[in-house]
Amino acid sequence: MATPQPRANVSAIPAYVPGKPATVRPGVTSYKLSSNENPYPPLPGVIAAAHEAVDRMNRYPDMGSSALYAALAERFGIPEEHLSVATGSVGLIYQLVQAFCDPGDEVVCAWRSFEAYPIAITAAAATSVQVPVLRDGRHDLDAMAAAITDRTKVVLVCTPNNPTGPAVTQTELDAFLAKVPSHVLVVVDEAYVEFVRMDDAVDGVATYRAHANVVLTRTFSKAYGLAGFRVGYAVGPAPIAAALRAVSLPFGVSAVAQAAAIASLEREPELLERVEALVLERARVVAGVRASGWDLPEAQGNFVWFELGPRTADFAAAADDAGIVVRPFAGEGARVSIGEVEANDRLIRLAEAFRGRAVSLVNQ
Ligand SMILES: *Cc1c(COP(=O)(O)O)cnc(C)c1O
Repeated sequence: MATPQPRANVSAIPAYVPGKPATVRPGVTSYKLSSNENPYPPLPGVIAAAHEAVDRMNRYPDMGSSALYAALAERFGIPEEHLSVATGSVGLIYQLVQAFCDPGDEVVCAWRSFEAYPIAITAAAATSVQVPVLRDGRHDLDAMAAAITDRTKVVLVCTPNNPTGPAVTQTELDAFLAKVPSHVLVVVDEAYVEFVRMDDAVDGVATYRAHANVVLTRTFSKAYGLAGFRVGYAVGPAPIAAALRAVSLPFGVSAVAQAAAIASLEREPELLERVEALVLERARVVAGVRASGWDLPEAQGNFVWFELGPRTADFAAAADDAGIVVRPFAGEGARVSIGEVEANDRLIRLAEAFRGRAVSLVNQ
């Protein structure tokens, strides 16, 4: 008997592998460094704002997220019609592909990059065109521009790139945008923008203002520590933001998420101090790990990337033994979030020990 069949693309959707939770071991604190979360607990004022929203959970959220739009528009000095909020920037990426691609249209992205991209692309029955990152983990923007065809509707630029770490420069992005046809939408995924510390860093807002085909996606999940509440926003020209709003899930962003996001914007200086502390920890980790001989790519997000090839599973297991949970990508490498100071110390020690072990394996 015939049964209902999902569209053919549905069975082709790759599985999302979430970061594992910390392993529970009696007497040992384990740290979860597998999902690029913010290790700091929420600020009291943010918790209070969320609690107030909890008291009204019998009501639907403000469907227009009007207070959140107003707060974001003021924060960035842009019109509200240039914004679209959603359930995290993953939600925005789904909506962008859905709104701009017909089945079979192509979406160009770097690879390895954010694992939600091929999922969102395949879910929309579009085709993902993956352009390998360079040896040092950077986007190969020349190759990405060359990969654009008549079927290309969207290009995703992940900067800093998850999981490899480097960010593109403004000069590189400008040169790339000059090559992209004006009807192709360029999505600049800035999930980690608050962590970037480099010369010639991308100014996303200036960039979208200068191009009718550029949209930024940003999130409250990483720098602002609201990963559990699911809220992100896109910044782009009014017609693109309008298309995103048109395909958005009605009432998608919950009342608690809206309240916490607004309270976070009000407390941005305090939150950005924490980001600064994480950036300093990142520098300490990178220096410590490089000191034992590792060739780490430039880390501009809240994570570092170990290229390990076939040793990836061994490294993840050794990390587990050391009480830190990392995010392995089988046969490629491991991404490790910058976390609590103690967790970062353990990572530096692990990198040194594992390096010694690997060298002795090679020398045998
Ligand atoms: C974490 C992440 C996101 C977004 O996450 P949300 O929690 O859905 O906002 C988007 N892009 C990249 C590259 C990420 O690493």
